[in-house]
Amino acid sequence: MMNEKKFVLPGDKLSTSEELLSGEGTFEEDGIILASQVGTYFVDSQHKKAKVKPLTSTPVILKRGDIVLAEIRMIRSSMIIADVIHIIGSKRAISGDTNGTLRVSEISKGYIKDPSDVFSLGDIFRAKVTQVKPSIQLETKDPQFGVIKAFCSKCRQSLIKKDNILECEKCGNKERRLITNDFGIIDPNNL
Ligand SMILES: [Zn+2]
Repeated sequence: MMNEKKFVLPGDKLSTSEELLSGEGTFEEDGIILASQVGTYFVDSQHKKAKVKPLTSTPVILKRGDIVLAEIRMIRSSMIIADVIHIIGSKRAISGDTNGTLRVSEISKGYIKDPSDVFSLGDIFRAKVTQVKPSIQLETKDPQFGVIKAFCSKCRQSLIKKDNILECEKCGNKERRLITNDFGIIDPNNL
């Protein structure tokens, strides 16, 4: 399904359980092996395992102005709580606090009534860091920001873009998100 030695995000399909076993940094669901963390996908051919090696070396601390990827952990009426999982252009892990907040007023230049109208739990979105102390604050107002990876709320399959809506190829479910202007055409190696 995927070439070896590739940068992957949580939820990316790596292989099947017929081909390989699920190793570190991966999990298996319905016969598919998926990444559970950001990192480099590789095959441990000796043990026939799919593995994701975390981005290591010297960890880097998040700073204001960074463009990041974050995974949604919680959605409230006034804000989204997300874990910052990656700094774009950096192949280093993030040290320290990664718990970010995206306030409803910082989502879009237009009016968003409820964050759950345009985001869903487990989505991965691209955002700008506007503050790091005392808490990490995120912003997604520009077209390059928003969801880059969304999962079906019914069956967790990755959603694909069809016209202006996202659709699940497995169950046909249609969902709406605030997506980036390059949703679906992002080269993971440029992340
Ligand atoms: Zn589905």
